Order: sequence, then structure tokens, then C-alpha cells
Amino acid sequence: KGSDGSEVPEKITIGTDTSFVPFEFLNQDTGEYEGFDIDLVKAIAEKIGIEYELKPMDFNGLIPALQTGNLDMAIAGMTITDERKKVVDFTRPYYDAGLYILVRSDEKSIKGVEDLKGKVVATKQGTTSFNYASKLDGLKEVRPFPNIDQAYMELEKGSADAVIYDSPNVLYYIKTKGKGKVKAVGDLLQAESYGIAFPKGSPLRDKVDEALGELMEDGTYEKLYVKWFGQ
Ligand code: GLN
Repeated sequence: KGSDGSEVPEKITIGTDTSFVPFEFLNQDTGEYEGFDIDLVKAIAEKIGIEYELKPMDFNGLIPALQTGNLDMAIAGMTITDERKKVVDFTRPYYDAGLYILVRSDEKSIKGVEDLKGKVVATKQGTTSFNYASKLDGLKEVRPFPNIDQAYMELEKGSADAVIYDSPNVLYYIKTKGKGKVKAVGDLLQAESYGIAFPKGSPLRDKVDEALGELMEDGTYEKLYVKWFGQ
């Protein structure tokens, strides 16, 4: 039993982001969700011996859905923050990341965060990047989108000067669809760690956290890491 008195149901509902490559994304050919988080959740569920249903939704909706009990758990490259810890519980950190600034390849005036004054920054709504950008002094505008691909498009067509977003996604984008069109500039802006989130007091947290620890020790985590991020 959890501190909220509830027990773990036999089949749980797990929320994930509609798209946060390479952690979760829809494979257009198979119609299935794939990614590091998706593989990790599968391994965790096998370890615990629990059935689950994946429910992809806009990132912004995950925490409210945990709070109302519409989700038993959420995995979405979600950064562990003090703010979020007030309303949801997290496992131990399972992935270290940070935020990067992405600009067009031919951009010369933006070399780091101090050059963003007077510029339009696009990012994804409800994220740590949005919070970060909103606190920067002197930006012309912070433009949040439900999906990061829209922010990348704004950048490429010139309606935004930069995108601020999670480093693994930015680096992946530079290597794939954004190849030759965009580049990352400056240092990692903010160190962050991702955790799996639960409704406050959920009895599932400890079980998942323990399973995660075991997967980190038995080599499974490592294998999945190499599969999705290389080395
Ligand atoms: N890590 C970021 C956050 O938690 C963004 C995650 C995402 O877009 N899925 O705010």
C-alpha cells in the first residue's frame, strides 16, 4: 500500500509524450510507440510483473493527469524539479541532460545565451525550457508550442531566431531532420535529470524505483542506452 492508502492495480495506465525523440515517438510504419523511455518502461513492467497501457498525450497534460488519477505513472523525459515535486512523486534520476540553444546554420549573431537579447525564442510549452527562456532578460518574445517540431519549423522558416530545448532532442535533430539546417551554440544551459513521475503517495513509486535500480545494475539499462544513444 502507498502512503495514500491505495494498492497497485493489475493493469496500469502510463502516460507518455506524443513526441520526444528519441525517448518516445510514433513509428509511422508500425503505428507503435518506440524509444528509450518506451523500452525502459517495458523492462520495468516485466521486472515488476505488471500489465500496462500507454497513453500518449501533450507533455503539458501529463502532470494534471497524474494529479487527477487519470494516469498511474508518466514517463516522458520529465525533468525532476522542486516545483514538480510539490505535486507528483519521482523515481531516482534515470537520464542526465540539459538545455541547448539551437539556431540556423548560417546564424552569426547568436553564440550563446547572452546573445539572445532582442531575439525571438521558440520552445515547447510546459517544459523546463519554457521556464528557463521566460526568466531570461531582454528577449523579444518567448513562443511556446505544444510540440517541439513546430518550434523547429519556426526557426527554419525564420520566424524565430533560436530554439531552447532538451539537449538529447536537439542533438538528435541536428543529426537527422535538421542536418545542415541548424546548429547548437554555447554551453549546456542548465543541467537536468529525468525521472518517472507518479501521483503523490502512489504505492507504485517504490516498486518502479527498485526495478529501475535493478535494471541499472544488471546491464539492461546500459544496453538500452547504447541502442538509443550509442556508446
Ligand atoms: N525535460 C523537459 C521537461 O521536463 C521536456 C520534456 C519533454 O518535452 N518531453 O520539461
